Amino acid sequence: MSDDRATTHASQFTATVPGIARIGADRELKRAVESYWAGRIDAAELGRVGAEIRRDGWNRLRRAGHDSIPVGTFSYYDQVLDTAEMLGALPPRVAGIDDRLDRYFAAARGTDDVTPLEMTKWFDTNYHYLVPEIGPDTRFSLDASRLVDEIAEARALGVAARPVVIGPITFLALAKAVDGADAPLTRVDDLIGLYSELLRLIGDTGVPWVQIDEPTLVTDQADGLAELAERVYRELSAVTGRPRILVQTYFGDAGDRLTALARTDVDGVGVDLVSGTAESVAGAGLGDKLVVAGVVDGRNVWRTDLDQALTTLEAVRRDVGALAVSTSCSTLHVPYSLSPETDLDGTDAGRTLRGWLAFADEKFAEVAALAGALADGRQAHAAEFDAARRALASRATDPRLTVGAVRDRLAALTADDWTRTPAAGRRKAQDDALGLPALTTTTIGSYPQTVEIRKARMAARTGALDEAAYRARMQQEIAEVIALQERIGLDVLVHGEPERNDMVQYFAEQLDGFFATRNGWVQSYGSRCVRPPILFGDVARPEPMTVDWITYAQSLTDRPVKGMLTGPVTILAWSFVRDDQPLIDTARQVALAIRDETVDLERAGVSIIQVDEPALRELLPLRAADRAEYLDWAVTAFRIATAGVADATQIHTHLCYSEFGEVIGAIADLDADVTSIEAARSHMEVLADLDSAGFANQVGPGVYDIHSPRVPSTEEITESLREALAAVTADRLWVNPDCGLKTRRTDEVEAALRNMVAAAHAVRT
Ligand code: GLN
Ligand code: ZN
Repeated sequence: MSDDRATTHASQFTATVPGIARIGADRELKRAVESYWAGRIDAAELGRVGAEIRRDGWNRLRRAGHDSIPVGTFSYYDQVLDTAEMLGALPPRVAGIDDRLDRYFAAARGTDDVTPLEMTKWFDTNYHYLVPEIGPDTRFSLDASRLVDEIAEARALGVAARPVVIGPITFLALAKAVDGADAPLTRVDDLIGLYSELLRLIGDTGVPWVQIDEPTLVTDQADGLAELAERVYRELSAVTGRPRILVQTYFGDAGDRLTALARTDVDGVGVDLVSGTAESVAGAGLGDKLVVAGVVDGRNVWRTDLDQALTTLEAVRRDVGALAVSTSCSTLHVPYSLSPETDLDGTDAGRTLRGWLAFADEKFAEVAALAGALADGRQAHAAEFDAARRALASRATDPRLTVGAVRDRLAALTADDWTRTPAAGRRKAQDDALGLPALTTTTIGSYPQTVEIRKARMAARTGALDEAAYRARMQQEIAEVIALQERIGLDVLVHGEPERNDMVQYFAEQLDGFFATRNGWVQSYGSRCVRPPILFGDVARPEPMTVDWITYAQSLTDRPVKGMLTGPVTILAWSFVRDDQPLIDTARQVALAIRDETVDLERAGVSIIQVDEPALRELLPLRAADRAEYLDWAVTAFRIATAGVADATQIHTHLCYSEFGEVIGAIADLDADVTSIEAARSHMEVLADLDSAGFANQVGPGVYDIHSPRVPSTEEITESLREALAAVTADRLWVNPDCGLKTRRTDEVEAALRNMVAAAHAVRT
């Protein structure tokens, strides 16, 4: 490679990103794949939409002035699934499906006969990937045709293509062993041969660079990652006929793994300088390798401080051979562009807020401006730098970011504010006040969200339905849900959440300090997109958010109705969060807003309040060293949100999973009176784990799986309850499904809940 390296210096690049979103600026891909699944369009039409989205994405980068463009980050569903397909590692159960695309979608979504791959979170983001399964009989084999075709497609359009693939270490670290196979990472040598072949194939296309993504190198997901990285990339960089190799890391500091890569012949490394540090790069001994410096945040929405970013770049440049500017990670995690956010232009406050933001298109421009300034000096890009400075100054002085009353409350917080009477004392007060039977039956909050409910919400949004009519429509829905629960004979009722579009957005729309975008969609998984609210300022709750709905529901029944709120950690996890203060302060502000709501609910006569925290585990930092601090502030925030009520008011929480792992101690520390969890699929084993973590409060292990339309029988649920009673005494056990019911049909819900109540009665007697 070395002579080649000297002569192809012109192929050096200066401005790029590790990858881009692919759902389409108007979610064209979502509509196209869903139409394909429904049989309304054919594969050729889907292919045309895909090609158009790729072309549009590449053009955005080209127009911004980038000189190396990632190719291969497009996907019809998920990039990890694409990699599994490329490596011949789709599960054997889809092998019988002849059509390639249908086989691929079967692995992603399942069919009547085939269960799909599991899905889980992509590192600490809100994107979910499909977990490849590696069995003892998995034989890897390379089929790079999709990537090679995309390279040809890009080059035909004159795009300076840099193919991107997920690396062997990350692919295996993200996979799971099935059927008794050894840990997938033990198969790394099998993959080195395939990746060598892949590198030769890419080399044959004539592109100068390949990017191999290895985000696993910022984690402690396995021991000896530095040694492994060195070994793998020594071998891959020895392949003849290969293009230059850029090993791309993101989502954290690569630390000693950079030093390991420095000892190999790879030609460049990509580093995240938003969550990682310039010191790691300086200390890694990278010699003349290209460093692709991710100084523009690829996963949050704030405009970059260009002066600070340039200072970082200049410092890094002193220690390395060559430097290119980039985002910290793929812009998959942020919306496409600010241009549809016309709501922001309506008011001065809105226009100001707009100036603080940068979605993907705006980030591409920031990268280009920084690359230009690095080459020609700041003066050459004075306009961009001035605009960034003005935005930063306006953000620093905007009154919405520092609200005196919020700051005073925060400063006055003491441990008393997050400490309730010990649980045993509360239990007594609650038993006296509520008088509930043992094995109390309840549900998690939502009831089926019918098409009519969604239509009414939409009509209210556009003004087609006026406020009073909308209210009446939702009240009618609540009345039906209350009547249904009484008919079924549940003990603790809920209002059913018909008024909520989303459990975070519903609250964000009513809290000060949040902005809800018009078109800020990001892919969550497959064709599913979410529109995270932007938490930009100090958070406060101007008015009650749920009290009217809950008290209306309570007015219809003598049984207790549970108030339903989303917890501070989950609100943070599913929003874009301000980056100008520690998360702990932001979390406490949100916690105080939720606390105000719990207090108002209590005052209105609501004696049971559930504060959902399904995202508690999601925000867990990638590195073990950072976890204790996170769990500490997360638990404290929940407790601030819930400790403002009297002993007799019962606090519930709900978590959507049962593999608690490292958060199990934190769940006990939340100190909720009642915790409902997923358990139907894990057969109650989780109760023993909770016990050993010192959890002594009441618990509602989900007794059936709401993710399936199947109606569980009374016998099955009775059996689950008996299993649960082996671990928990009857006076601590609640009976509930394992999550909200909004995705189910009313007839399924009624049948399943009737069986659940019958099972509870059978076990009680
Ligand atoms: N209360 C919410 C519901 O029932 C909880 C949703 C969740 O756990 N993600 O829908
Ligand atoms: Zn849930």
